[in-house]
Amino acid sequence: MAKQDYYEILGISKSASQAEIKKAYRKMAIKYHPDKNPDDKDAEEKFKLAAEAYEILSDENKKARYDQYGHAAFEGGHGGFGGGGMNMDDIFSQFGDIFGGAFGGGFGGFGGGGHRQARVKGSNLRIRVKLTLEEIAKGVEKKVKVRRKVQAEGVTYKTCSTCNGTGQQMRVTNTILGRMQTATTCGTCQGAGEMLDKKPSGADAQGMIVKEETVSINIPEGVTEGVQLKVGGKGNEAPGKNSIPGDLLVLIEEVPHDTLKREGSNIHYDLYINFSEAVLGASKEVDTVTGKVKIKVDAGTQSGKILRLKGKGLPSIERYGHGDFLIHINVWTPQELTKNQRKFFEEMQEDENFSPNPQKSDKSFFEKVKDMFS
Ligand SMILES: [Zn+2]
Repeated sequence: MAKQDYYEILGISKSASQAEIKKAYRKMAIKYHPDKNPDDKDAEEKFKLAAEAYEILSDENKKARYDQYGHAAFEGGHGGFGGGGMNMDDIFSQFGDIFGGAFGGGFGGFGGGGHRQARVKGSNLRIRVKLTLEEIAKGVEKKVKVRRKVQAEGVTYKTCSTCNGTGQQMRVTNTILGRMQTATTCGTCQGAGEMLDKKPSGADAQGMIVKEETVSINIPEGVTEGVQLKVGGKGNEAPGKNSIPGDLLVLIEEVPHDTLKREGSNIHYDLYINFSEAVLGASKEVDTVTGKVKIKVDAGTQSGKILRLKGKGLPSIERYGHGDFLIHINVWTPQELTKNQRKFFEEMQEDENFSPNPQKSDKSFFEKVKDMFS
């Protein structure tokens, strides 16, 4: 099923500024807010889509990737890659930024839907993962050790006595317009509506401890240096029964390969053959990222020739198949000769078979490079 364009979802043009994107999202969020549309699945779906579109388009990096690759830029299929599929908690935690003030506080007046309990989210953790080209080619599961803040075993929380669990305090102030009542975030629980009840020894003042955990990360094939993956819920936990954990953000780093050079989804390899192999032809075995491949070097092969193994490169990020594996032929000229060899080559200096005679089919280096990118 084709996914709707993020710009269409928000009803804006591709050239919309960040201010326009924000404004459009506010409008959608208010129109389709669940408090205003109780039990309306269609509205809920639109609400979620708008939040997802905003999450991508409000981030210049994500927006640039989306503009270039479309939805494919965020599809991984492996546990929450990038933007796809936000849950309601993510959406409401985004509201602080959009509407100012504490989570969703601005919605108090809607249709009697009641106050939506603020949910405290733990902070995100960040790690770097180094990958070889071979791992990038096939995708890989990596197990990493992370030190997470988690709720200590046996800790209990109770309703905040200052705000009675609402997370808000009403404050009456005298202004020139008269007495005004304003809601502010509860100072005791910071809006969570809960506070510590009992904690085991060893836990901090909020009932938290630091624990080392092994997290397994499914890394999809074809990632590039600088890509950030998200493992939902594997960041730090926050105190409280109603809190939700932060995310583990995984930054991909590429380990340079000894013999292969990556260029997008194509891979380049320098193959050195000796002088007689160039003259007589040879069969060679080449290590690609997905295994060994036998290739044939034709008799009379010129130095600089490029052999292309179609589809033997890396999966491309757009997920339309694979790039190519390009073998650059380099003829190794002998540097030390025996007496007999020297005599042979001296005789060949005037030989017609040895004089260069490039044909139209022997493309120049620059033409080959041009071909490679076409
Ligand atoms: Zn409170």
